[in-house]
Amino acid sequence: MKIGGLQKFSILDYPGKVSCIVFCRGCLLKCHYCHNKNLQNFSGLEEITEDELMNFLANRKGLLDAVVFSGGEPLCQQDLYHFMFHMKHSNGFLIGLHTSGCIYEQFLKVLDVVDWIGFDIKTEFEDYEKITQVPNSGDQALKSFLALVGSKANFEVRTTYDPRFITDNNMINVAKFLANNNVERWIIQECILRNNGKTNEKLSLPNKNLITKLNKIINIEIRK
Ligand code: SF4
Repeated sequence: MKIGGLQKFSILDYPGKVSCIVFCRGCLLKCHYCHNKNLQNFSGLEEITEDELMNFLANRKGLLDAVVFSGGEPLCQQDLYHFMFHMKHSNGFLIGLHTSGCIYEQFLKVLDVVDWIGFDIKTEFEDYEKITQVPNSGDQALKSFLALVGSKANFEVRTTYDPRFITDNNMINVAKFLANNNVERWIIQECILRNNGKTNEKLSLPNKNLITKLNKIINIEIRK
């Protein structure tokens, strides 16, 4: 595991549970709005070693409910499954995962061990490149999404709304796609650009007219 950071406590990243967040280093995608650009690179600093993380978690048994893997893209870590398996079965933690599903084979593997998944849908799958800057990146994400909805995993689906690259039609088509796949709730997240890591610029959320249209298709939750 290449670990770019550890947040020792969170009540926001696993629904209803107290968790810590392991930020994995590296991502195959290059989303324009990436909130953790310093973690995109595979070769940057590792904040703590795997052994140090294991020791930290061993001391948090009974104090934390869950370990959430975020990033970067956790699926890029070859030993992710084994690490999750150990955390779950030796230490008794629930396992959470924040992912774009961009590596299907790896997603399938960890689906067996993960208790809750926050799945990022970037836009319509055929338009992923506009956000991710990686050709055909929606193909793997689509396969992972279909595996997710066909599984028994608990999950939420969320989309960061970047009005520079997502059209109203994209939003309506994603809403229809999710509803057709029996997803009951879609979280739309405000897009915040971190300019040189110093100032935050909030982009506009979907307007009321669009929200009304989307809500007729699927329950929308706006998350700021
Ligand atoms: S998938 Fe996530 S970590 Fe990777 S570039 Fe996009 S926003 Fe950043």
